[in-house]
Amino acid sequence: MKYWRKYHPTIGTDDPRYHQVSLIYSVLLIMLIYFGLIGLLNITLFDAAHIAVFDFFGFLLAAAIYFYVSRGGNFKVAGWVVTATLIFVLLAFIHVAEGQNYSLLWVTILPPIAFFLLGPKAGSWVTGLVFAYCSWFLYQLLGQGVPGNLSLGAFFNFIEVATAQIFLFRYYESSRRRAYEQLQKTSATDPLTGIFNRLHLDNTLKTLIAASKRDIQATSVLLLDVDHFKRINDEYGHIVGDKVLVAIANIMKKETRDGDLVGRWGGEEFLIICPKTDAEQAEQIANRIVKKLNSETLLDDINVTASIGIATAVAYEEEHNAETLLQTADKNLYQAKADGRNTVVASFDDVAFDSAQSSI
Ligand code: GH3
Ligand code: MG
Ligand code: MG
Repeated sequence: MKYWRKYHPTIGTDDPRYHQVSLIYSVLLIMLIYFGLIGLLNITLFDAAHIAVFDFFGFLLAAAIYFYVSRGGNFKVAGWVVTATLIFVLLAFIHVAEGQNYSLLWVTILPPIAFFLLGPKAGSWVTGLVFAYCSWFLYQLLGQGVPGNLSLGAFFNFIEVATAQIFLFRYYESSRRRAYEQLQKTSATDPLTGIFNRLHLDNTLKTLIAASKRDIQATSVLLLDVDHFKRINDEYGHIVGDKVLVAIANIMKKETRDGDLVGRWGGEEFLIICPKTDAEQAEQIANRIVKKLNSETLLDDINVTASIGIATAVAYEEEHNAETLLQTADKNLYQAKADGRNTVVASFDDVAFDSAQSSI
């Protein structure tokens, strides 16, 4: 696990910001080490305190950004500040070196970072402006006849490489984002019903419980199992059985709210995760689904019923986590089946605890 996850427990590996946040922390750490070490070397070995001041300024700036990001600062702002700091350092270095000894080569590390952190559009603008400035700087040096290793050929080569880099990185970043979105979507969905799959539900449940506990909110899960589904398959065949599962998934999506996550847990079992929902509200949602299935005829002439087990994680219960929540939901589902199916069973221990608390 990445060390920075302790600052941002809600950013899981399936979060699109995950790799960007990772890069921001890596660049910041590199800057802290680089500026700290070079600053010390400049004071001790090279006797260049005037340059060390500049290094320590960079060190403090990187430390300030680190502090800002780790205290929950906006990642978009952080991405811009990190890129701006990098540009400042690169240009300062090129100026100090007066463009000699191929120091301009350093600006080629900018596109991968700028495009990744800022996206294809802003990345193009920022890189384009910095490269245009560097081209102008190189042109000025040529005009002054300094330094010996620069020629008109070097100038044109720089412009060609810079232009190619902008186009290539823009293309690369756009296709990377598209592929990432596609991958996120396919790895999170169940191919038959188009709702979330078990992997996604599993990953999200953990993050959601952590987030809602911090906000002192309850999280509920509804585990639904279709009653006597085997009979549907036996009577109508598997293909029709599949279509019935799709129809049930659609009903569940319609009967839940936007923030709820509806997914297929496996076979003819479904899981609904309801953030910021206590046991009582969860029971209302479950009853709504059971009622709807009772009143609706699927695929023209098929009627199904379902049983639902509910479990709720509350903020003040240490042992309420994804695993215990699913165990309780499973236990309640089993009870619903034992109670004759087509029914809902919830645990209300958290509600009892609530009223006990309020009466103290
Ligand atoms: P119960 O009320 O006790 O849940 O009875 P049930 O028949 O639903 O339970 P059981 O677990 O015995 O059977 C589940 C059936 O669901 C068996 C299996 O053929 C069917 N099934 C599981 N996954 C799929 C699927 O993807 N498509 C279809 N058509 N059937 C499925
Ligand atoms: Mg089952
Ligand atoms: Mg079943």
